[in-house]
Amino acid sequence: MKYISTRGQAPVLDFADVLLAGLAEDGGLYVPETLPHFSAATIASWAELPYNELAFKIIQPFVAGCIADVDLQRMIDETYTGFNHIGVAPMVQLGSNEWVLELFHGPTLAFKDFALQLLGRLMDHVLAQRGERLVIMGATSGDTGSAAIEGCRHSQHLDIFIMHPYNRVSEVQRRQMTTILADNVYNIALEGNFDDCQEMVKDSFADQAFLGGLKLGAVNSINWARIMAQIVYYFSSALSVGAPHREVSFSVPTGNFGDIFAGYLAKQMGLPVRQLVVATNRNDILHRVISGNDMSKGQLEHTLSPSMDIMVSSNFERLLFDVYGRDGAAIADLMQRFKKEAVHLEPQRWEAVRALFDSYAVDDATTCDVIRQVHAETGYLLDPHTAIGVKAARECRRDSKVPMITLATAHPVKFPEPVVKAGLQSPQLPAHLSDLFEREERYSVLPNRIAEVQAFMAERVKH
Ligand SMILES: *Cc1c(COP(=O)(O)O)cnc(C)c1O
Repeated sequence: MKYISTRGQAPVLDFADVLLAGLAEDGGLYVPETLPHFSAATIASWAELPYNELAFKIIQPFVAGCIADVDLQRMIDETYTGFNHIGVAPMVQLGSNEWVLELFHGPTLAFKDFALQLLGRLMDHVLAQRGERLVIMGATSGDTGSAAIEGCRHSQHLDIFIMHPYNRVSEVQRRQMTTILADNVYNIALEGNFDDCQEMVKDSFADQAFLGGLKLGAVNSINWARIMAQIVYYFSSALSVGAPHREVSFSVPTGNFGDIFAGYLAKQMGLPVRQLVVATNRNDILHRVISGNDMSKGQLEHTLSPSMDIMVSSNFERLLFDVYGRDGAAIADLMQRFKKEAVHLEPQRWEAVRALFDSYAVDDATTCDVIRQVHAETGYLLDPHTAIGVKAARECRRDSKVPMITLATAHPVKFPEPVVKAGLQSPQLPAHLSDLFEREERYSVLPNRIAEVQAFMAERVKH
């Protein structure tokens, strides 16, 4: 499988190079040159596979030629046996043809474990084959950092530096990162906000000389391997409610358009998907583009669903690339303009986006209402991101006979504030994290100055 950039000017790469590269040289994102397509008969034949075997079927075509089948199956097995539910991605019923797909049974209690636990293993494997080392640098507002650290803590061939804004992530989120005491893991608490962290990562990728010859690797969802691993649970959940013999719809709480883009790919690969609902909070750029062809940055607002507090949805570029007939020059031009001003898609391109997606934006007050309402209806406790998904599903649903599956992206224990605001009792930490508040923490508080952060890293990386 070959990978091309959405801006058409970067070299064509194979899977292993895309895995280590992150962003393309031309500023674009890598996508597969062609997608595998599975017939209904093939999909039907997977109905009884356990999650890890299904994952192999779906991921194998994307890595073929770079990773041997036995190695791939072993890494997938190791990843998903580390989850705390035998079903890996179990479904819970909320109502008639209304389901929640629980994606929070991984080690850090958010859906990012599905991709990042595998990503760390894939990177380590490729680096070992090449005899190279890599330095992971990432910024986090919470969930990405802990999942990435957990995924990389056992890696022999990389060091990982994760920056979070000092005093601005929840205590559970911070402790999930800072209590991992591996000697290749470094937590930096930056005296700044999340945007400062992200800016510093971006500037460091642009000029990597401070690492004395080592290269940086990315763990955010610009990394193609993350999207790839997320395609699997669309298939597993759809199969469990009767696909491919019936259509299925999905509602996806999203900020960066990564998770829902994986659902779009599942549809392109042959899964009979009726509706794909984009669910956002007040940071609603995706809803504004889809419903009104208004692609403009708003003011970033802090909400009760902080993992979706994102102003620029980087993965949307991957969708636009398809909608613009894979014309890299057109995408490069569009993204250049978007940096400076509001953009509007050409009318027929926008119609194509609208034909693929529905969208809905939910404010904080409604988020709490939905948590309270669903708890009253079923006794089930939603996290705020998932509550936004459920609300959007209920608002956008067009056919009550088609199963509607909302992706539950986090365990409610990670975000207690809206649960308490909804008048409910905050849930308990699961058994494997029950001593989280007693564990030793390790992190370094650094000033918001790039020279000091880079010096800190340069002193610690292993060559
Ligand atoms: C990261 C995250 C999201 C948003 O995921 P995208 O990659 O932006 O689609 C939603 N919910 C939770 C809990 C998250 O951690």
